Amino acid sequence: MTNRSFADYQVSDEIQRALAVLKYETPTEVQSKVLPLALENKDLVVKSQTGSGKTAAFGIPVCELVQWEEKKPQAIILTPTRELAVQVREDITNIGRFKRIKAVAVYGKEPFSKQKEELKQKTHVVVGTPGRLMDHIERETLALDQVKYLIIDETDEMLNRGFIEEVEAIIKKLPSDRVTMVFSATLPNDVENLCHKYMKDPTHIEIESTGKTADTIEHLLIQVKEEEKISLLKNVTVTENPDSCLIFCRTKENVDTVYRELEAAEYPCERLHGGLEQEDRFAVMEGFKMGNFRYLVATDVAARGIDIDNVTLVINYDVPMERESYVHRTGRTGRAGNKGKAITFSTPFEGKFLKAIENYIGFEIPMTEAPTNREVARKKAAFEEKLGGRRVVKNNKTARINQDIMKLHFSGGKKKKIRAVDFVGTIAKIPGVTADDIGIITIQDHMSYVDILNGKGSLVLQAMENATIKGKKLKVSKAIK
Ligand code: AMP
Repeated sequence: MTNRSFADYQVSDEIQRALAVLKYETPTEVQSKVLPLALENKDLVVKSQTGSGKTAAFGIPVCELVQWEEKKPQAIILTPTRELAVQVREDITNIGRFKRIKAVAVYGKEPFSKQKEELKQKTHVVVGTPGRLMDHIERETLALDQVKYLIIDETDEMLNRGFIEEVEAIIKKLPSDRVTMVFSATLPNDVENLCHKYMKDPTHIEIESTGKTADTIEHLLIQVKEEEKISLLKNVTVTENPDSCLIFCRTKENVDTVYRELEAAEYPCERLHGGLEQEDRFAVMEGFKMGNFRYLVATDVAARGIDIDNVTLVINYDVPMERESYVHRTGRTGRAGNKGKAITFSTPFEGKFLKAIENYIGFEIPMTEAPTNREVARKKAAFEEKLGGRRVVKNNKTARINQDIMKLHFSGGKKKKIRAVDFVGTIAKIPGVTADDIGIITIQDHMSYVDILNGKGSLVLQAMENATIKGKKLKVSKAIK
């Protein structure tokens, strides 16, 4: 964190208000370096670690710089995974909430037609994985002629996943007078080459980090025999008694096994791996964020870029085989200045992976003993008490920013020739309501949605029950979602 405040930058009141609700009080280091340059439309190559606040580093300038009036997309953000696309869309929506920025996420495995419909609405920012984004470009469902910003997030990972051709193909389709920002945890040659090829004299920003991992995380190692892992896991969870815990396994088979064991022992838990349907993956993620359960058993699909508030404990049930993966997994805790703990189980067979990780992170992970039976017995009552209670999520940013917003559903749309201005004209005339209280408006063929801000939802709902829009009587109700 730095001593400056967001008010020191050219950031509008609407964005500052959102940052205050999100409790972003002082810019992180990457934000303080990126913001002034990005706000001046400079091309940037930014090397920074996970959890450093990099999403807001590009999210704030993007929300600030896009023109609200323009209907076509002005910023494209590329991410390597679907989960990250959804996460970035959520962050942008939160930051841009009071400017009414509309961000859409496009990714594979979700119906193309649903995204196509969304893209027909006013859209300021499109976040997507390269394959699906290219699909939309080729099928002409995504207009690019107004794009002024391209952000490539987790570029090293994007190239690792073999997306280079798609990324280049997308870049070639974009207007050349755009601003490009590349974010990457590492800058291998292929990332440098990409930047060199497609950017205009970019400024390099490197966030000096004391190490590869954040210093808010306590790292520990416990040696264990393969057959004793499950009982060690149960004992460690009792003695640590975490508010929330992510347990990483190397394979989906191991995830299933560990999950079944914990479920049988009545842990409030869920699992996440690539073998599940995308919809289920999102539902599990969302449930974990909302505090519906405390324990999430996952493969590395949950390790990258996903921002879950307040994960207090990360357990590496298996040592990751890739050293970067250790950094990403453990980086799910100790975020944004909070304290966190990461415990790694290591069997004799895993010693060589461990050495590679320790070389990479630059320190030896301190070894600790498995909890004794006595210790486990002593802490059992407190553990069981917590297990029975619901997890309280103290800091759900999205819930906080949405708490004063009510989404209204109207039973008419384009087919009745209704436009956004018609809603604004009618709603802003309600006594006690102004145009500033109206958020994002979505008009579909047969229905429309209007976000009402600042806690005025009930007032508008009541008034609209008896009002007409463009002379037409529409049914109005609180939208389910
Ligand atoms: P990121 O590196 O974008 O994944 O962000 C890491 C975490 O830091 C997320 O939980 C953000 O919501 C949070 N965050 C980002 N910027 C700030 C800030 N200026 N102050 C406090 N928290 C922040």
